[in-house]
Amino acid sequence: MNILSCKYCRKPFASLGGRICPDCLEQIDRDFITVRDYIYEHKQTNIDLVAEETEVPKAIILHLLKEGRLILDGPVGDGGALFCERCKKPISTGKLCKGCADKVASTLERNVSGQKSGGDGPSIKGSAKIGQ
Ligand SMILES: [Zn+2]
Ligand SMILES: [Zn+2]
Repeated sequence: MNILSCKYCRKPFASLGGRICPDCLEQIDRDFITVRDYIYEHKQTNIDLVAEETEVPKAIILHLLKEGRLILDGPVGDGGALFCERCKKPISTGKLCKGCADKVASTLERNVSGQKSGGDGPSIKGSAKIGQ
């Protein structure tokens, strides 16, 4: 068990792996419900408005968005918002934009099927004939 200082309140606590103390985790769970309900009723909103109206710190809303627990329909907001980790496009939830997530998924699929269908090796080597 490690003693870490909490990412949010900076209080030292005995960590089981996370960077957030149990008090803050509890608070975040409460905030999550507040924010989720707010977004449910105000679909086209942005993070600044949510933070203002719910009085939940923006850092916590961002944390929830990054974890994929919350989804904002509208743009997440300028500055300090969420960006795709691959192409830096603004996104509304998670860590990747839809395009990159699809790309990553198809790359993974190809790798898996490539491993499975191994066997037909580079047998065409040297057999390239020019002109019919
Ligand atoms: Zn804390
Ligand atoms: Zn992307």
